[in-house]
Amino acid sequence: MANQDFLNEINSRRTFAIISHPDAGKTTITEKVLLFGQLIQKAGTVKGKKSGQYATSDWMEMEKERGISVTTSVMQFPYADCLVNLLDTPGHEDFSEDTYRTLTAVDSCLMVIDGAKGVEERTIKLMEVTRLRDTPIITFMNKMDRDIRDPIDLLDEVESVLKIACAPITWPIGSGKEFKGIYHILRDEVIFYKSGMGHTIQDVDIIKGINNPELDARIGYFAADLREQMELVQGASHEFDREAFLKGELTPVFFGTALGNFGVDHMLDGLTEWAPAPQHRATTGRTVEPTEEGFSGFVFKIQANMDPKHRDRVAFLRICSGKYEKGMKMHHVRIGKDVLVPHALTFLAGDREHVEEAFPGDIIGLHNHGTIQIGDTFSSGEKFTFTGIPNFAPELFRRIRLRDPLKQKQLLKGLVQLAEEGAVQVFRPLDNNDLIVGAVGVLQFDVVVHRLKSEYNVDAIYESVNVSTARWVYSEDGKALEEFKNKASTNLALDGGDNLSYLAPTMVNLNLAMERHPKIRFHKTREHA
Ligand code: GDP
Repeated sequence: MANQDFLNEINSRRTFAIISHPDAGKTTITEKVLLFGQLIQKAGTVKGKKSGQYATSDWMEMEKERGISVTTSVMQFPYADCLVNLLDTPGHEDFSEDTYRTLTAVDSCLMVIDGAKGVEERTIKLMEVTRLRDTPIITFMNKMDRDIRDPIDLLDEVESVLKIACAPITWPIGSGKEFKGIYHILRDEVIFYKSGMGHTIQDVDIIKGINNPELDARIGYFAADLREQMELVQGASHEFDREAFLKGELTPVFFGTALGNFGVDHMLDGLTEWAPAPQHRATTGRTVEPTEEGFSGFVFKIQANMDPKHRDRVAFLRICSGKYEKGMKMHHVRIGKDVLVPHALTFLAGDREHVEEAFPGDIIGLHNHGTIQIGDTFSSGEKFTFTGIPNFAPELFRRIRLRDPLKQKQLLKGLVQLAEEGAVQVFRPLDNNDLIVGAVGVLQFDVVVHRLKSEYNVDAIYESVNVSTARWVYSEDGKALEEFKNKASTNLALDGGDNLSYLAPTMVNLNLAMERHPKIRFHKTREHA
């Protein structure tokens, strides 16, 4: 039986990520959320320049501020009676695998929608990912200080496009220059907006009761409008139902402006009150409950050279059960070894602090010396592996070559370390000395060359290569595998983790190889276990 303190720690955790289309306001809302978490005195310091559509050069500029932008990968802060973990996800779609994996490590999501634009394409994709696990979704309709679309239309669009019922918790009164504030439906109070206060936590200015005559005195015809609208809304939308929310079938909707820091606290109140505490997780063996005493967790992200001064690699592990204590031993399931973890990292206040203890729902950073891979499970000895952490097959390939041939070793080291992060794969053909980089998005090629230069001091360029797809190959039949290795050696390569893979010049070639070698399994993704 787990003791009460342990249960209290678990029940106070809320671990979530923000999903949105670029420019909807994810960065701005993160800043305000942290302001409420008192992490930063004045919001506006989370990232430097930021816009969803940044070009490669902007990304590299941002990279210079890596110390800031990357330590915000995980942010922990107290709010109400909870300890909230906010996991950041990259905005650019070329890094979407990173986002998909991060979404496996949360228990709920905040969906931010630009009130002028409604549901946009990336939001649709990300929602599909959250659907795989029926993650509960909270919605924030942003930019009420601009001229927005009819709020009822916005809810209709969410319901019809994203196939999730909407339960408005707050309702906007006016918008743009005439944005007066919101009506909090559950609390039956009107909360007034004051512009120009976005950098602070504002004093709350409230009138209790929608039928309060003070409301008419204060906002004139907006009061009558609001009453009329609320009648419509009550008929047309759903009431909040926590069960349906927890099943991912219904989303509570809040309206506000992230830039004006208005409404973000209502959303946080909802998140801490309703979003689930750390949930159970599926493994290859059994379901793991957070309340189990034995420690377990999985790695969903690896980041090389997080801090240029430290030059280290950090594996981000989501704790699924038990308690992390400084100096404890963990079982690294894939390599079958017990490892000592003298100091894991946490990222409170953007500073890297050594944690003494951490609980289910928390993320800890493990120093990685090349032994940890994305998807790895750590346990207290049991040999299960957490499932559902995707590893994507690259779709674009290039040969990478050095300008200075003496740096081959350094190049390989850099590539293997960057490949650990999961954004690119590196392949070494068995019968020549080429190095082939595979990526899911074009931008990643540029980023790799840029980082090789700045982090490993090697100057590399790309050449085209005749590879159109890759598969990881496995076989239970040792003899068949040997035969395959002999026959297909010109197409075989080892990836960064020394796993055998088949590089096909065309799909036709791949299909032929599969037909000829029925005892070989060709996998689109690398198996984690
Ligand atoms: P992200 O790409 O989703 O992270 O979006 P950002 O937070 O960077 O916001 C994109 C742009 O919208 C920036 O110029 C923000 O200042 C602006 N923005 C964000 N929230 C609001 C808001 O509530 N009102 C207005 N008017 N602008 C906003």
